[in-house]
Formats: sequence, C-alpha cells, structure tokens
Amino acid sequence: MNTSTLSHSQLMRYNRHIVLPQVDLDGQELIARARIAVVGVGGLGNAAAMSLTGSGVGHLTLIDNDCVEDTNLPRQLLFSQQSVGENKATAARDALRPLNPDAQFTCIDGALTGDDALSLLAGHDVVLDCTDNKATRLAVNAACVRHQTPLVSGAAIRFEGQLFVGHPVCPPCYHCLGELFSEQQLSCTEAGIFSPVAGIIGTYQAMLALQIIIGTGDIPYGKLMCFDALEHQWQSFSVPRSPACPLCTNR
Ligand SMILES: [Zn+2]
Repeated sequence: MNTSTLSHSQLMRYNRHIVLPQVDLDGQELIARARIAVVGVGGLGNAAAMSLTGSGVGHLTLIDNDCVEDTNLPRQLLFSQQSVGENKATAARDALRPLNPDAQFTCIDGALTGDDALSLLAGHDVVLDCTDNKATRLAVNAACVRHQTPLVSGAAIRFEGQLFVGHPVCPPCYHCLGELFSEQQLSCTEAGIFSPVAGIIGTYQAMLALQIIIGTGDIPYGKLMCFDALEHQWQSFSVPRSPACPLCTNR
C-alpha cells in the first residue's frame, strides 16, 4: 500500500532520487513540499529553475522584470527565438511546465527593492539569488536575514563563477561579503560570459537548494566558492562576519 504523499507516478518518476539513501522517500517528499524563489531568470536562473523543476520541487517563484533578448539565447536555454520580447519569468514558466506537470509556479514581473523583497520572498524555504546587480542582491539578502531563510547566491562572468550560501540565522551574510569588495561592478554585457559557466553555477545553486531542503551534504554556509573555468579549479574561502554589517549585529 502506498502511504506516501507522492502518487504512484511520482514514485516512478523520482525513483533515481528515492533509491539514494541520502534522499530516500522522505527527502523526495520534502522536495515536493518545498517552495523555492529564483530571483533573476537569466543564465543562472534558467539553469537553476530547470534543475529544480525536473527534480520535483513543488512550488517555484520566478522573479524577473527583463525581457528575453537575442543575446540571452546562447546560455538561457529555456528560451527560444519565439521567446524574444517576452518577460523572462513567464517565458521560463511556459518552458518549464511540460517538464513537470505537478510543479506550481508564481511569476513576478518586477525588480526587487527593499520592501518588495521582504513581502515577495516571505514563505519560501530557500531563496536563490541569480541576479546581476548589487542593489537587488543586497535587498534579497536583507529579506532572507529578516525571514531567516537560507540564501544561495550565484554569480558568473567571463570564465569565472562564484557561490555564497547564507545561513538562516548565523553570520556572515551576503552584506558581510559585499563589505570585502570594492564597488567596481562589471556586467556580462561589458565583460562577456562563457555560456556553460552560467549553467554550471546555476545548476550548483539548484543542487545546494535541494541539499538544504532535504538536509543532506555538508552545506558550505558562510563560504565563498570560486570556480575558474580556465584552470578547472574550485577554491573556497571562509567569509568573516563584517563588524560594519547592520544585518548581523544582533545575529
Ligand atoms: Zn552580515
């Protein structure tokens, strides 16, 4: 008798997950109940949303105020020539639906600022920061600290990728990390991006989110992980709590 909250067809579909002792039936049920927000549905967000949807995440919130452009297509693989001009969040949802008919989606066509981020990101189990601008990153981080929600932040440019995972209650946070770097900011428009690097980092964000949901693996909380696609190396650094961080003073 099937006593799982998963249907028979879901048990068949996710069999390759369920046979892993680290996932098991309990883990797959947690994935099915999970609500995950993907902020930014560009190169990172496409790869992350694809992996999360395929893996059986129950609810995805997709947030982006950009429209699909021709120059996105080499790495934003949910989009096609027909998507050009459409909002990225709704175009991604339309491409993801056939991948998993059980998944639910909320699409938000907007940019996240302080108050918006706080209300729109409430009630999620994990938030993925897949954006490319610092103001949004800081707003998303502040909301995650307030809601005590784990944050998986990703970045990709040229042949380089970065990941940072913010703990729900312990410092450091993304703001602490930002204190370590100068304001200099390059966008992929100016600097370029090697397409598969965005896929690697976005997929890694999805993997970390699933591991947080099911509570398996050694989550690199508070670490900055850097990927070099030319040397084919990962390096990991512990990020110190910043004494100047207004969000971590009482954490
Ligand atoms: Zn902080």
